[in-house]
Amino acid sequence: MKPFTYVRAQSPPTALSAAGRESGARYIAGGTNLLDLMKLEVESPPLLVDINPLALRGIEARAGALYIGALARLTDVAGNAQVRRNFPLVAIALEESASPQLRNMATIGGNLMQRTRCAYFRDVATPCNKRRPGSGCGALDGENRRQAVLGTSPHCIAVSPSDLAVALAALDATVHLSGSNGDREIELADFYRLPGDTPQIETALEPHELIAGVSLPLLPFASRSTYVKVRDRAQYDFALASAAVAVDLRGTTIREARIALGGVGTIPWRCAQAERLLAGAPADRESFERAAQAAMSGAGGRGANDYKIPLGRRTLIRALESAVAL
Ligand SMILES: Cc1cc2nc3c(=O)[nH]c(=O)nc-3n(C[C@H](O)[C@H](O)[C@H](O)COP(=O)(O)OP(=O)(O)OC[C@H]3O[C@@H](n4cnc5c(N)ncnc54)[C@H](O)[C@@H]3O)c2cc1C
Ligand code: SF4
Repeated sequence: MKPFTYVRAQSPPTALSAAGRESGARYIAGGTNLLDLMKLEVESPPLLVDINPLALRGIEARAGALYIGALARLTDVAGNAQVRRNFPLVAIALEESASPQLRNMATIGGNLMQRTRCAYFRDVATPCNKRRPGSGCGALDGENRRQAVLGTSPHCIAVSPSDLAVALAALDATVHLSGSNGDREIELADFYRLPGDTPQIETALEPHELIAGVSLPLLPFASRSTYVKVRDRAQYDFALASAAVAVDLRGTTIREARIALGGVGTIPWRCAQAERLLAGAPADRESFERAAQAAMSGAGGRGANDYKIPLGRRTLIRALESAVAL
């Protein structure tokens, strides 16, 4: 790990001005992702601004939405009664993330900002356009079993790692940001950037902008929601495929659905076409298969990850079956 300077910020303005003074500065929250990357020298920030003292931990109802502060710990959000009652898929997605120890430290903001687990990205001896723009992509013709099949580009096929982001994508969440030019909000759908030819740019955050929190509109039918995650081992692993689903069911007919996929896309993958197909359709296997086909349309693998295309479909069908059975 390279030497760095450390400061502890006491308020958002002091955090912003400290980070703004040093190019390459990073905020540190739980440290469970950033410290790993610093030890690997994938990231070598000259300055760490510790944001833990900031009053950004609250979880509260605000203007028809549930607001979750960026420094709320994953454990606290997963266990929160309002989250469990109104957005069970968020609680499930969090409980299926990492390990209890990590969830005790990891924060909502840090989770949304965590970097890809692509092995080439994490190995500084290999080419990676995301880590070193223009150096090439080791995964394209290398080991790519875990890489994405949706939203890829000839420059990067890294899968988006956060389970929480997938659940939030299905729920039309808003990300609240604080920057030196003031506060702003952005839809989660617009927060993550496809890799295109600039895979090093992952989000719409401006330099040194801070995530203050996220809000989830109180969608009445989000209580009938679930998150299904498929992975190599049952615990402590990232998704090979996952599906976040909320369903408004009237009798045996689906009135509305919200769907996002994880583990298969370079960003959390909202499935608008599949949602349209399900609106007004019978809640049966045939409708689910049609929706799953639409959700994975346009997917393309690189050989070792081709299995993710049928796996993504099956994961979504399982999530839809589970949601209507609730
Ligand atoms: C073994 C292991 C298994 C894991 N499994 C899973 C899994 O299954 N699913 C899953 O979703 N995650 C998983 N994770 C990732 C884990 O959830 C993240 O490491 C964690 O959520 C990051 O949060 P943090 O607060 O520790 O972030 P930090 O490490 O402190 O920060 C991460 C990044 O976010 C930035 N950042 C932090 N807070 C803010 C903010 N408020 N505003 C702007 N930028 C900010 C930091 O500058 C840094 O770049 C796993 C991690 C490990 C080590
Ligand atoms: S897939 Fe993306 S992160 Fe992985 S090596 Fe290629 S450019 Fe880097």
